[in-house]
Amino acid sequence: MKKAVYPGSFDPVTYGHIDVIKRSAEIFDELIVAVVDNKMKTPLFSVEERVKMLEEVVKDYPNVRLDSFSGLFTDYTKANNIHVSVRGLRAITDFEYELQIAQTNKILSDGQLETMFLTTSLQYSYLSSSAVREIAMYNGDLSKCVPDFVKENLDRKFGRL
Ligand code: ADP
Repeated sequence: MKKAVYPGSFDPVTYGHIDVIKRSAEIFDELIVAVVDNKMKTPLFSVEERVKMLEEVVKDYPNVRLDSFSGLFTDYTKANNIHVSVRGLRAITDFEYELQIAQTNKILSDGQLETMFLTTSLQYSYLSSSAVREIAMYNGDLSKCVPDFVKENLDRKFGRL
């Protein structure tokens, strides 16, 4: 049984993340989408809020479950006996950052954690959570970026609902 984890901030989840989740769920028997509780960053949404939005996204995928973690990712994967991490690549700028993380995780896990990359579907290559947060702040059109329920959460955050 092949198990993988897709870690990320998901602040908030976008169609780009959803595409990676769908495609990974078809490759692996079990996929854990793990929300990072990063103490070094101040997110727009709390971990609980991010998990809740993701729950809505994965509700029709029986082999996908949600989790969250803080601390070192490799401590999380070791504790949960996970040997594959999935990440998405949008552009060359992602590559440099992701390569460094993948190699660091390989070392920290004593060679036990592989990172697999899915290249973005072209229609989502421009999409990032930070762009979504900025568009939402100015009440721009998010219809091609996030599902309606995420847009509602953003409207609430920015005091429009
Ligand atoms: P982080 O804050 O850890 O970079 P994100 O929540 O931004 O995490 O993203 C998690 C993962 O999803 C990263 O590997 C990122 O490259 C990938 N990702 C984000 N947006 C897209 C997209 N539009 N297409 C493909 N992968 C994406």
